Amino acid sequence: MADVAGAAPLPQLAPFPDDWERALVVMAHPDDMEYGGAAAVAHWTRQGKLVAYLLVTKGEAGIDTMEPDEARRVRVAEQIASAKVVGVEAVEFLDHPDGMIEPGLPLRRDIASAIRRHRPELVVAVNHRETYGGTFLNMADHRVVGQATIDAVRDAANRWVFSDLLTAGLEPWGGVRHLAVVASPQSTHAVDVTDTFELGVESLRRHAAYLAGLGDPDPEAFLRQNAEATGRRFGGGLAVAFELLGI
Ligand SMILES: [Zn+2]
Repeated sequence: MADVAGAAPLPQLAPFPDDWERALVVMAHPDDMEYGGAAAVAHWTRQGKLVAYLLVTKGEAGIDTMEPDEARRVRVAEQIASAKVVGVEAVEFLDHPDGMIEPGLPLRRDIASAIRRHRPELVVAVNHRETYGGTFLNMADHRVVGQATIDAVRDAANRWVFSDLLTAGLEPWGGVRHLAVVASPQSTHAVDVTDTFELGVESLRRHAAYLAGLGDPDPEAFLRQNAEATGRRFGGGLAVAFELLGI
């Protein structure tokens, strides 16, 4: 996000931790990770790290001119293709209602279940904060899923929370070392994506029906502007920012 006019310059960013092998990315909608984060995923998978995506909805309410049943089918296919561009083969979908995701235990349980199955050392959450910086308001689905993901990291590690998961054979997983929030207004760390930026652009372009519904904005220009702004806080080049939360 560019500096807010009149505000103090944003602080420099620290290098993103590298001491992990498996990541689970939990987003609310198809396209959430592609709006900036996917180039970092391409960087990671190129290093041989394993990244899986969990989508809480199938994005059925995301295209104004398309009925939800059709949009659901189209957007699932676009997300799978998009993930493949950045080296992600494992893409899972929950089926919470797009635009109407309810905070609460069922959502936390679903995410905790995925964390126990994938056993990641890194969990990436969608932005749970009120804004993206300045006065650019975040939306309810993102805030709800981001907060549920943060809470589910703890739930996944506790044997006595969601004990039906244990009964189903899902042992607790307390191995999450890093919890990162993408597109946060309080970013602390960054990944240099100079070499994988184009893959990130291509990944967003795979959401063709979604972008057409928005009037076909140029993904390259939008992503480059943000990656350059982040790069200025990370030694130049192109970069993707994350807020790392203490666990
Ligand atoms: Zn979204």
